[in-house]
Amino acid sequence: MKLLPTVLANLFSRPATRDYPSYVREPFARTRGELVNDISRCIFCGTCARKCPSQCLAVVKDSARAEGSWSLEFFACVGCGVCVEACPVHALSQKTTHRPVAVARAVITLRAALPARPAKKDKPADNAEPAGKDEPTEKDEPAG
Ligand code: SF4
Ligand code: SF4
Repeated sequence: MKLLPTVLANLFSRPATRDYPSYVREPFARTRGELVNDISRCIFCGTCARKCPSQCLAVVKDSARAEGSWSLEFFACVGCGVCVEACPVHALSQKTTHRPVAVARAVITLRAALPARPAKKDKPADNAEPAGKDEPTEKDEPAG
């Protein structure tokens, strides 16, 4: 008999769940949703792909074409945010909303030119004296 009030309340109240995706709840302010890459900032270092626990990222550098590609299998992404925190140039971010549902596996690929390499510093010549090394000095003759 103790369960009766609960049963009646459940019978005459709205369901606790929503009919997703027909009804989408307003996201919380810090929801970790869809991953976004500002490809114009990406330097194709591959850090995000190495750190991703779901292995859903791939980064390829094509030096011959001076182009890089960044791919995300987005339904394999668990939205953990590890890649966002690891990206050294803050190219990655997460929306507070999720990608619309779909029935097929999908990969998104973004491409951009590889960043220009910084100019190399001039190397000292092989026969040059190492910097900061003093010339040998004559020792004083021992007394006596
Ligand atoms: S960590 Fe950032 S810069 Fe490096 S490949 Fe990933 S998105 Fe690009
Ligand atoms: S949010 Fe997590 S699971 Fe998704 S791509 Fe980044 S590291 Fe991988």
